[in-house]
Amino acid sequence: MKTDILVLGAGIVGVSAALHLQDRGRSVLLADRGEPGGGTSYGNAGLIERSSVIPYSFPRQLGALMKYAMNRSSDVRYNPAYLPRIAPWLARYWWHSSPANLEKATRALLPLVEASISEHDKLIDRAGASYLIRSRGWVSFYKDERRFAAARTEAQALSAYGLSVRLLSGPEFTALEPAFAAGSAKISGGIHWLDPKTVTDPQALTKAYAELFVRDGGSVVTADASGLSQESDGWSLKTQEGETIRAREVVVALGPQSGLIFRKLGYPLPLAIKRGYHRHYAQNDGQPLSHSVVDEEAGYVLAPMARGVRLTTGIEFADPKAPANMIQIRRNEDHARRLFPLGEPVEQTPWLGLRPCLPDMRPVLGRAPRHRGLWFNFGHAHHGLTLGPACGRLLAEQMCGSTPFADPEPFYPQRFL
Ligand SMILES: Cc1cc2nc3c(=O)[nH]c(=O)nc-3n(C[C@H](O)[C@H](O)[C@H](O)COP(=O)(O)OP(=O)(O)OC[C@H]3O[C@@H](n4cnc5c(N)ncnc54)[C@H](O)[C@@H]3O)c2cc1C
Repeated sequence: MKTDILVLGAGIVGVSAALHLQDRGRSVLLADRGEPGGGTSYGNAGLIERSSVIPYSFPRQLGALMKYAMNRSSDVRYNPAYLPRIAPWLARYWWHSSPANLEKATRALLPLVEASISEHDKLIDRAGASYLIRSRGWVSFYKDERRFAAARTEAQALSAYGLSVRLLSGPEFTALEPAFAAGSAKISGGIHWLDPKTVTDPQALTKAYAELFVRDGGSVVTADASGLSQESDGWSLKTQEGETIRAREVVVALGPQSGLIFRKLGYPLPLAIKRGYHRHYAQNDGQPLSHSVVDEEAGYVLAPMARGVRLTTGIEFADPKAPANMIQIRRNEDHARRLFPLGEPVEQTPWLGLRPCLPDMRPVLGRAPRHRGLWFNFGHAHHGLTLGPACGRLLAEQMCGSTPFADPEPFYPQRFL
């Protein structure tokens, strides 16, 4: 099998890149060890996060640091035995989160975040996937008056970014989501972020994009990417069926597993993992959830999805290969049940996902400097669903020699080499 470009990884990032390359006239083959969207793209909170213009940074206020050091929070937890291994990476993350560096990351990512909805919309339309999309934005809510006042000020400070925002009083929030009225804690208010869209089944969206890719002439094959080898005139990989794929160029879009390739080829890129969980709960009759809502104090999302209300957790620092543990999902569930009538869990065990993260909060996207025909596109952290199509476009524009719609330099792997 011969192809111009082999894309490794059929998550939202790889599938979007494959589509953009195909649209520019390249023959493209997409390889994954499983079905499209079965990795981290399977289980996220489904927010196409147009309003997240400031990346998720490391807290720098003493109060927040003390809180996380206690390791009792529901939004971030760590396994103490893993801390010495992740500490050097956390130190870099902390350094990149200084006001000046955060501003740099914000500026770099802004054109991609701004294009996130329009780039998805084009693919949603072509893939006939609008039945998976809601255009109601999402709502953050607060119990504590002071936290709500601070959040209001922060939201107003974002007005320069032209976001559509509606501030909600407590009663306005419960008018929007009446099921919260029965909760034992009072909601002080909320912020309705109107620009983002939400997805009712993130894996189904990735699969719909992959089907569009096949409909337009692309092929998806099952293969283990770790068998990739360099040849004199390109790259080769054996499929599960034993066929050999030969490609002039290869794109590494293996999300959290991208180290399989870049480490083997000698690139010391600081990719780390922030683990996160989800679990679905039945909806109680007559008490629906209409919007995706975020409890900003406890750090979880409740999203109305195809399989029920999906609760997604914040961050866990633990060995990526360690089995799932129930602590964080239990803490979040306890918080949520005080506010919202969650039904019975749909699954016995929660899903565990791995967010691929770089310490400067930007993905690695661009040409690998030491290997001909090798390209990287991974490390989309908290916003891979959001950024997949825009990053696919930015990569394809570079690979095909057209003018990139955003400055690609802040994403080059060279910044770490
Ligand atoms: C709890 C949680 C909530 C989140 N919520 C949101 C959200 O609301 N909005 C948002 O924008 N982002 C969210 N994210 C982040 C988002 O899900 C990720 O950034 C995104 O899915 C990464 O996509 P990817 O394609 O890079 O990786 P993946 O989806 O993991 O894709 C990588 C692919 O590589 C394949 N692969 C791995 N190893 C091999 C191998 N050896 N051979 C062949 N194939 C291989 C895998 O099977 C997989 O299909 C969330 C993440 C988590 C964990």
